[in-house]
Order: sequence, then structure tokens, then C-alpha cells
Amino acid sequence: MADRRVGWILVASVGLLLSSGLYLLAQQRDSIQRNAAASALDVARGLEASISARLLQSVASLRGMVADLADDPGPAERIEQVLRTASRYDPLSAWLGWTDEQGRVLMVDRAGARASPAQEKALAALLEQPPAQGVGLQPLIQMPGEEQWLMPLSLRVDARSQVFALVRAARFADGAESLKLLPDSRVALVAADGRRLLRFGNAGGRLEANGPPLSPERMGELRTRSSGTLRFDSALYPGQQLAGYVQSASLPLYVAVVLPESALDALWLRDLIGPGLVLLIGLGGIVVFAVLLRGALRKQQQALERQRYLAEHDALTGLLNRDTFWRRLAEMIDRSGGRRVGVVLFDLDNFKAINETLGHVVGDQVLVEIGRRLQQLAASQGLLVARVGGDEWSVAAGDVEDRASVERLLARLDADLGQGLRVDELELELSSTMGIALCPDDAQNALDLLRRADIALHAAKDEMKRVVRYEPAMDQFSAEALALRSEFARALREDALEQVYQPKVRLSDGALVGVEALARWTHPQRGPIPPARFVPLAENSELIHAFSRAMLGLALAQAARWRDAGHRVPVAVNISANNLLDAGFVEMLRALLEQHRLAPDLLELEVTESAVMRHADLALRRLQALRELGIKLSIDDFGTGYASLSYLKRLPVQALKIDQVFVREVERDDADQRIVRSSIQLAHGFGMVVVAEGVETQAAADLLQAYGCDFAQGYHYARPLPAAEVEAKWLSGASAAA
Ligand code: C2E
Ligand code: CA
Ligand code: CA
Repeated sequence: MADRRVGWILVASVGLLLSSGLYLLAQQRDSIQRNAAASALDVARGLEASISARLLQSVASLRGMVADLADDPGPAERIEQVLRTASRYDPLSAWLGWTDEQGRVLMVDRAGARASPAQEKALAALLEQPPAQGVGLQPLIQMPGEEQWLMPLSLRVDARSQVFALVRAARFADGAESLKLLPDSRVALVAADGRRLLRFGNAGGRLEANGPPLSPERMGELRTRSSGTLRFDSALYPGQQLAGYVQSASLPLYVAVVLPESALDALWLRDLIGPGLVLLIGLGGIVVFAVLLRGALRKQQQALERQRYLAEHDALTGLLNRDTFWRRLAEMIDRSGGRRVGVVLFDLDNFKAINETLGHVVGDQVLVEIGRRLQQLAASQGLLVARVGGDEWSVAAGDVEDRASVERLLARLDADLGQGLRVDELELELSSTMGIALCPDDAQNALDLLRRADIALHAAKDEMKRVVRYEPAMDQFSAEALALRSEFARALREDALEQVYQPKVRLSDGALVGVEALARWTHPQRGPIPPARFVPLAENSELIHAFSRAMLGLALAQAARWRDAGHRVPVAVNISANNLLDAGFVEMLRALLEQHRLAPDLLELEVTESAVMRHADLALRRLQALRELGIKLSIDDFGTGYASLSYLKRLPVQALKIDQVFVREVERDDADQRIVRSSIQLAHGFGMVVVAEGVETQAAADLLQAYGCDFAQGYHYARPLPAAEVEAKWLSGASAAA
């Protein structure tokens, strides 16, 4: 683009310079020619003056002789006497003579000596008729045996005789030095009737006499003015000729100075060298300038492109950066036409450790390799990939219509990232945690989609899960969540929360062994809000303390009422990770137990696997303190987190609750069966009892019993029920089994 502009500027400026240069040169040629023509005219004037002056000397002699001979020429002796007298006063005429129509000739030289008969005879052949009037100009002649040309001038004496003077033509060239100023110039003397009398050049000075007559047109041109300049084609010389001419005032004669234009052009060309060189240097300068300019522009453009690239890409891996990813994602959503777009945000679980133990160089190599794999994946699957943070990556896919395609994408990512990675002789195993969000299901635009994938990723980390799909409940900062939280806080303050109780039964005989207390909130306008919606609001804020305290208070009060009614019903309460971190939690529980005068073994606390893993050491100490109070503990949602077996073994926990996802379809799913069976064996190995959650069918119950599972909870036995219903349906007969 810039290149082409420079090209145009170059062409334009070269064109401009060239045309103005050529214009100036043409002007110069023109002015050289005009000057030369003017000079030729000047020289012609000077020559005409000197030639006419010379000839007039001879004409004066002729006039004198005519005056002497006019009445009666007398005998030859007298004529000779007249001639001799005239010659004495005439320093210029080479010969003076007389002739008549019979061909008699008398001629004397400047010294007054008579010419030879041969010489006189030569003259007789030339001068026939006397000129009718004025001075006659005859063709030039050479005396027998002589080289030099003589110009005869004659004047009529009477009808039969005339006098003549012969002037040495070479003398005309005497005043012609100024011709040298004009290259290759020559002088021509032309008679008024067009006869070319004489021509001589400035080189060598050779005379040529009696050339062919001028064309009538040329003569016509000459006659229009008494002096001037002409340009014409010559019959005798090649090329255009330039002439300055003057008509003699006193004689029927033109003096012309002629020079060929080609000689001027040579002159012009010589003069051209200087400005021509300057022009060439100028052109060269422009070209050099343009080349340099183009180079500079190219560099600038490359720098700009590089800058743009850097602005859009991550310098280390060459993947897109976060901003650019976001923009491209927005375009992808625009183009999707309502089809589902998915974003997977993930980070590497062990990257921090790799960086710290192996150093940043290795860390960078790992990132570069991950970047390379993602780029390959992106190219083959048409994905959008970016590095959005230190070890955080983002993948967007436009073809995730159904759950299966999301799973396929995740499997592919897993397979790519899971492949061992060699760095510096080291084989590294990488795993990652992923958050997923889908558009339009979870968000309507790119920014929200990214933010929600981020929220899902954090939820996955918090819950120690490998993959988590976004749920609105995770989003603590949406306007709706904020409103809901403040309403939830009010409900807490106003003791508007209620509790329901889900029976837990022994598999062997179906006897009630306890209940799980579950929170219920009925929003004044919106009706029942599911715990999955409000519990996270509490868990992620200070509200968790008041919430857990309220739930524990309700549960203990209920357990105390049942005890007072003669039923021994252990109540299980769910607590969060943050409760375990709370230094006053154990003390608060002791106080509550005391307040209700409740035996601690009627209370059971359920803590999720991921909650204990989050701050493993502290959690372990708290659980031990709780255990010392005599409270029962169980691990909730077992199987969804990452708890390591060696850690689990150390926990002072009596029960393991296998998560519902493995139980609900256990009679149909081989993988679930394996997980459930091995969880049961594991728990028993650690001396724990096992509760299966989410038992919905008799078949599941049978299978679990066959596996040796101890207790079960689920819709198959009972939904979470208000206390009165528990009493009506479960406590009306005997008291609960211990
Ligand atoms: P959770 O502790 O795993 O509680 C069991 C959940 O599974 C309950 O949902 C219960 O209604 C449901 N459930 C029981 N049997 C079945 C079944 O056969 N099939 C199916 N599909 N579901 C069954 P709920 O009451 O909606 O509670 C959801 C979650 O909310 C609880 O999961 C627990 O994590 C949390 N939660 C509820 N109440 C409290 C509370 O007081 N404190 C704390 N910290 N968390 C609570
Ligand atoms: Ca629970
Ligand atoms: Ca559970």
C-alpha cells in the first residue's frame, strides 16, 4: 500500500523533474538558436558594411572613369591614360578596365601596368552588354594562370562601352573574424537577381565562386525585408540552416551569414552537459530518496504489523491473548446464528509446582509445548484457542450442539494435555481443571460467557473437581445473585428458614437410623428457592456462619424434641469448608449441645470431600476437635473430589456418603457399579460405615445391599419431610434403630 504510494510519488516527481528539465533545455535550445540568428544578423551587418565600403571605393573609381570618358573616349592611349590615373587613386581594385561591344578590352593593374592580351581576352568573354543602369555585378572570374577570384563591377559609359573594376574576392573575408564566434558558419554574397556570387566559410577561408542561383522563393523571402533572419533547408548543406542577411544599401547585393542548426545543437549539447548532469543527479537523488523512503515505510509497516501481532497474541506461545480471544469469540457468537457456542477455560493443576521446583525456564517450555498442542488442535478442529493468563487457557468451539459434542471436546483436550511431556530429560504428567459455559444457555454474549466459564473454573477448583459446568448459583456477583443474597440475609435475620428431614435407613431391614436436615427457604414473592441456589450464596460469604448456626440450632432443637418425645433420632447437618476454618465453630457447637442438653452422638456433621481437602491440615485438626466433643462425622458427596486415600485414612470420620451421581443409576451402569463397590470396600477397610445417597429404586437398594452397603437415603424411602411427617410416617411405632 505504502509501497505503491511511494511508487506513484516517485513516478510523479521524476516526471515533473524530467518535463521541467526538458522544457528548460528546449527553451535553452530555442534561445541559443535565437541568439545565433541575431548574431548571424549582426555579423552580416558588419560584413555588409565592410564589403560595401570596399566595393564603393571601386565604384568611385568607375564613376570617375565614366566621367572622364563620357563625351568621347578618344583613342586607346587616352583610355589607357584615364585608367592609369584612376588606378593611382584606387588602393583596392586589383584591376581597372574598359571594354566595348566589339570586344576590345583595355585593363591596367594597380600599378597602372597594362594587362597581357590573354588576360584582356578573358575579360572580353565575360563583359558583353554594359549594365543598363547602376553598378553591374558580374560573375566572378579568374585570370588565366591565377588562383584567386576577382569580382567584376561595371558601370555603363555609353550604349556601347563600359568601365569595370576587378576586386580581389579574398579581401572580403578580411573582416570575417567575427564569424568564428558562430560555429560552422559561412558568408554568402548574393546578387539582387539571385545569382550566388561568392561564398566563404570561417574554416580554412576557401572561397567558392558562382554557385547556382537561389530559388525564386528564397529570393522572394529575402526581398520582403532589407535585413532579417531566416531558417531554411539548403540544397547544398545538410539539415536546417539559419541565416542573418542584409541587403546592401548601395549595391544590388545581399550579404548573408549562414550556419547549420546542427552546429548549434552540438553547442547546445555541450552546454547541456552541465544542466543535464544536474538533472540526472536530481533524478538519481529522487530515486535514492524514494528507495530509502520505501525502505523506511516498509520497516514502519513491519513494525506496525509486529506491534499489532504483539497486541493480539501472547508473546510466549503465539496464541491469542485474552482481549483478542474475547473479540473473536464475540464474532463467533455473531456468526453462530443461534447455534450453541461453548467455552472451556482451564488451567494446569501442577504448573505452579513445576515452576517452583524446576524453574521458570522449564515452566516456559511447558507453556510453549501446551501452546503448540492447542494450536494444532485449534487448526484441526476449527477451535479458537488462547492463553488468557499464566497457566490459564481458553478454548472456544462453535459446534457443541449436544452434551456428547461437549464431552468429545473435553476428551480431546484431555487426551492432548494428558500426553506425557518431555522437558529436559524429564517426563511430566499434566492434568488440568476445567470450567465450561455455553452460549446461549449460560450467557448471551462473549464477555458473560468468558466470565461464566471463569466462574465454573473457580467452582471446579473450589470443589476440587476436574470439570464443572457453569450454574447460576455459582455466580456470586450477578445482579440477581446480589439481590437474592440480601434477601437471604434478611430471611436468616428473621428466622424465616425452615428445615426438612430426610430419613436414612438401614439396608438390611429398612429401619430408620437417622435423618439428614436440609434447609428450605420459601421466598415471599418467588416461592421455594432450591438449596443449590441459596446455599452457595451463604457459603461464599460471611453469611455461612449465621446460616450454619441457624441450621444447627433448628436441628438440635428438633433432635431434643424427638428425644423428649422418646425417639432417638440422630440428625445430620451439612456444614461447609468455611465452618471448619472458623476458630469459634467448635466452641459454638459445644454451647449449642449444652443449651439443648443433647448427647453429642445425636448430632452428625456432613462435610464434603472437597471441603476437607481445601485446607487439609486445618480441617483435620477441627474434625479431631469435633470428634473429641463426641460428635459423629461423615464425608459427603464421596467420589466427586480428589481426596487421597492416605489422607482419608487419617480423618476421624465414621461414615462415607457415596454421591448420588454414582448411585441413582447404579443398577444400569457398569462404571458406577465399580465405583460404588470399591468405595464400599475402601470405607470398610478404613473402619467406616457407608451411606448410599440418591437411592431411587428397589433394584438399586438390592444391588447396594449385595455390595455390603450399610445404609441408604433416597426418594425410594422418603423425600425430605417436615418434622411432623417424619413423626407420622416414621416414628409412630418404635423408636429409631441405633
Ligand atoms: P446433599 O447434602 O447431598 O443433600 C442431599 C440432596 O439430595 C438433597 O437435596 C436431597 O433432597 C436430594 N436427594 C435425596 N434423595 C434423593 C434421591 O433419591 N434422588 C435425588 N435426585 N435427589 C435426592 P437438597 O435438599 O436440594 O439439597 C441440596 C444440597 O444443598 C445438599 O446436598 C447440600 O449440599 C446443600 N444443603 C442443603 N441444606 C443444607 C444446610 O443446611 N447446610 C449446608 N451447608 N448445605 C445444605
Ligand atoms: Ca448432605
Ligand atoms: Ca450428599
